[in-house]
Amino acid sequence: MKAAVHTSPGVIEIQEVAEPVPGPGEIKVRIEYTGICGSDVEIVNNHFGKQKLDSWPKGPKIEGHEACGTVVEIGPNLRHGFKAGDRVALGLGESCGGCYSCRNGLEHFCDVWKPCPGTWAQYGAFPEGAAYALPEGLPLQMGALAEPVSIAIRLVDVAGVKTGQSLLIAGAGTIGLLSLAVARQAGATTRVVSEPRAHKRQLALDHGATAAVDPLAEPLYSAAERLTNGRGFNSVLEASGNLGSAKAVLNAVANHGTVVWAGVYPDDAEVAVNPYQMYEKDITLKGSWIAPYSFYRGLEFLQAYDLSYIVTDVHPLEKTQEAFDHHLEGNSIKTLLQCWN
Ligand SMILES: [Zn+2]
Ligand SMILES: [Zn+2]
Repeated sequence: MKAAVHTSPGVIEIQEVAEPVPGPGEIKVRIEYTGICGSDVEIVNNHFGKQKLDSWPKGPKIEGHEACGTVVEIGPNLRHGFKAGDRVALGLGESCGGCYSCRNGLEHFCDVWKPCPGTWAQYGAFPEGAAYALPEGLPLQMGALAEPVSIAIRLVDVAGVKTGQSLLIAGAGTIGLLSLAVARQAGATTRVVSEPRAHKRQLALDHGATAAVDPLAEPLYSAAERLTNGRGFNSVLEASGNLGSAKAVLNAVANHGTVVWAGVYPDDAEVAVNPYQMYEKDITLKGSWIAPYSFYRGLEFLQAYDLSYIVTDVHPLEKTQEAFDHHLEGNSIKTLLQCWN
């Protein structure tokens, strides 16, 4: 089979590799569409913090984690009833359900977490617990959005978005725009997007933003004053990964508001926080790691709403390097790789 193999920083080669064989509790999936995520960009460029861990697999490696496809073979001892022909979307990995973390509502910190292998390939063998049946009628391209949609759903939860309240989203990439769609349905009535690129601001305005600001033209604190009657935003999602933005959003939040730093930031960077400001304004500052217990909700959301505007680029798997380089230019929203043609 063909696979896009990350061989050195910034370099992806198409290689002919052996097809995976599903082991116990695994399914072999013919991957149809797989996405390029903001975290994949960091990983391929060797900038992702977790790559420094001993547990991170080294050497040439197939990357990617957003995918959907069709089950073609099952391994022994399956527990969840998948069979050949089932259409599935894939999460990041399988949590066990029985360890200390899983039994305390923290499946994303499962003590024996089984990560999925990379999805930028024609086939993968995945733990069955990482797979979710695709709702009937949901196009495969949309199925590849299930993982990022589940991330957005979790972020809107973590940000404490409530009916009738105001929300600022910094960054109109995939996660920013998906969070905007979810927050709109969650009832946020003032939905402002901060984004330096004009065509992305327009996309946000076309799909649920009540206003869009250029943070290079107007400081966020002044946009916050202007757009919220001087109160600031009840919830703020920083989804750009930009450190300047991570700092600036702290001055855009309302009294008793919540700020979520949701980007992939450099692991050695620091952002100054004024603790007195946190105290005086009763501010909550949060992070958010992946999307525990959100995948079914993601699939429901994909069924209920047309999110096809998120997919701006589709490239054949053979052109992964070109797709990656083009995505790096920053004008695309979601870039998908089509694994068969
Ligand atoms: Zn992702
Ligand atoms: Zn566990």
